Amino acid sequence: MGGVNLVILGPPGAGKGTMAGMIHNRYGLAVLSTGDMLRDAVKKGTELGKKASGYMDKGELVPDDVVVGIVRESLEGTADGGFVLDGFPRTRAQAESLDTMLENEDTRLDAVINLEVPREVLIQRLSRRRQCSECGKIYHLDNMPPAREGVCDSCGGKLYQRNDDKPRTIEVRLKEYRDNTLELVDYYRKKGLLKSVDASGNADATFALLEEIISSVGHE
Ligand code: AMP
Repeated sequence: MGGVNLVILGPPGAGKGTMAGMIHNRYGLAVLSTGDMLRDAVKKGTELGKKASGYMDKGELVPDDVVVGIVRESLEGTADGGFVLDGFPRTRAQAESLDTMLENEDTRLDAVINLEVPREVLIQRLSRRRQCSECGKIYHLDNMPPAREGVCDSCGGKLYQRNDDKPRTIEVRLKEYRDNTLELVDYYRKKGLLKSVDASGNADATFALLEEIISSVGHE
């Protein structure tokens, strides 16, 4: 199936990155994760990374113009084969910019998948999360542990706990979600694109629900 364009929406810890990775493996869609792109820029010490790191460490959103700029660059060229946006848009202004970018590329979204997870589960997931420092793959110490402790199954990279997965920062991120991102659920519902799924179970169970949605919106 080619050319399906998706957004994955949901609070931190809902499983956006995990689902984006599974969609990539199954359907070959390009994954555009603003969080991964920003962490990469911070690691490399680029101008973008310098602008973003203070906000990220505190759990706050990076300013819209910075994030919209990186998405614009990465959408050019990837839009043709279909894509999954993970972690973007996160504000109404970003959502409106995305609409304009897609219009300019002469394409549109097929679905916005909204991952629903209760707050206690989010906190439990985030505080036990580990991520590969090389390829970005996500693990959970109890639910999705790596085969070898501290080592990525996919690339052998070292696993680490993100700075913003510490308890105080988790609170800030959940508040940022409520204050800025939650309204996008309505934004996309009004456009007829919203597909909400119960994402409180394990990754395979959630992915099965996503597969149904993707086959229903796919235009082969
Ligand atoms: P994530 O990996 O999606 O949880 O993103 C990690 C951090 O990167 C967020 O807490 C924000 O500081 C920043 N970030 C990622 N995506 C966005 C976005 N679309 N808008 C603003 N900040 C973002």
